[in-house]
Amino acid sequence: MTFDLAARLAERHAAHLYRQRPLLESPQGPEVVVDGRPLLAFCSNDYLGLASHPEVIAALRAGAEQWGVGGGASHLVIGHSSPHHELEEALAAFTGRPRVLLFSTGYMANLAAVTALVGQGDTVLEDRLNHASLLDAGLLSGARFSRYLHNDAVSLSKRLERTQGNTLVVTDGVFSMDGDLADLPALCAEARSKGAWVMVDDAHGFGPLGATGGGIVEHFGLRIEDVPVLVGTLGKGFGTAGAFVAGSEELVETLIQFARPYIYTTSQPPAVACATLKSLELLRTEGWRREHLNRLIARFRAGASEIGLSLMASPTPIQPILVGDSERALKLSALLKARGLLVGAIRPPTVPAGSARLRVTLSAAHSEAQLERLLGALAECWPLVNQDA
Ligand SMILES: *Cc1c(COP(=O)(O)O)cnc(C)c1O
Repeated sequence: MTFDLAARLAERHAAHLYRQRPLLESPQGPEVVVDGRPLLAFCSNDYLGLASHPEVIAALRAGAEQWGVGGGASHLVIGHSSPHHELEEALAAFTGRPRVLLFSTGYMANLAAVTALVGQGDTVLEDRLNHASLLDAGLLSGARFSRYLHNDAVSLSKRLERTQGNTLVVTDGVFSMDGDLADLPALCAEARSKGAWVMVDDAHGFGPLGATGGGIVEHFGLRIEDVPVLVGTLGKGFGTAGAFVAGSEELVETLIQFARPYIYTTSQPPAVACATLKSLELLRTEGWRREHLNRLIARFRAGASEIGLSLMASPTPIQPILVGDSERALKLSALLKARGLLVGAIRPPTVPAGSARLRVTLSAAHSEAQLERLLGALAECWPLVNQDA
């Protein structure tokens, strides 16, 4: 016997689940060139338009001049340089937590935090719709792993009755494929009453949510007692790369001592930390980006409901259009592309079976006119997708 990869790939094709990588031939921004074609994109997670901001680019360039390119080694050897340290301190002040630990990716931050905190004999409870990295982390930890119904404090409560060892409740802050907010006030109260810790991965909340972009914990006014483990990623609203875990002194020391995805990897390039220091400043202080983004979100929702699209309960820049069937989702995406618009079709297994969708994401970099172009094209294409259904 041998590996029959061709058959596996053919099967995926037949199920309309084959994935392709659009080749981006321009910087991030609303107007991109993909596979040789100019397109207006509504699928980036660069929610505040900071990925190509001139001051962020200048900070990266100056950082490379001063600190070189490579991180050189892991943080515990000789890879922890001044810009990394300065960024950790700035993020601690920003999140109002005693300490922050910087990671190279959100995927690794999540693996690190969960596996350092729980193991065999413990319990990890996760929202069914959590990001794949959180689900992978829960499985890897070796703790008893169970998923509660999406955003359902009652379902969580039932699972909290039957736990062993230390219990970690893990949730996305903003759900990445639906755009809705975790009901943290209820979930945190449930967890606290049972002595469990809550870990929130707010990859999509930092930047768009909260008065200063502090994400879902700022939005709900939650303290470290409510959310002892707070994860943010830097590749989305911050427009750079990397991630962080914010919490107590003891939490961060525990991660440094025990988290294998932290210990056994090279630090991110220090110039990236320089760039993030600049984007953090812009994210925090330039509230007009959030205000403009919120106006775009409101206009999109109003326009989409006039067309009769089914939206989800999302107050965030993630505004999925629920289609259901993968083939129809691909068709809608293709019809939009023919009109010069790029919106990705998200299919199982990224989302539950039968809930394929177009994941529209809005950015402060979009103009109102660009949004009207999207709504105009959707009004044209939506009936075409439905006529042969
Ligand atoms: C994107 C994302 C991650 C992964 O972060 P990277 O820095 O891209 O590895 C983790 N959690 C959620 C909810 C995400 O959306």
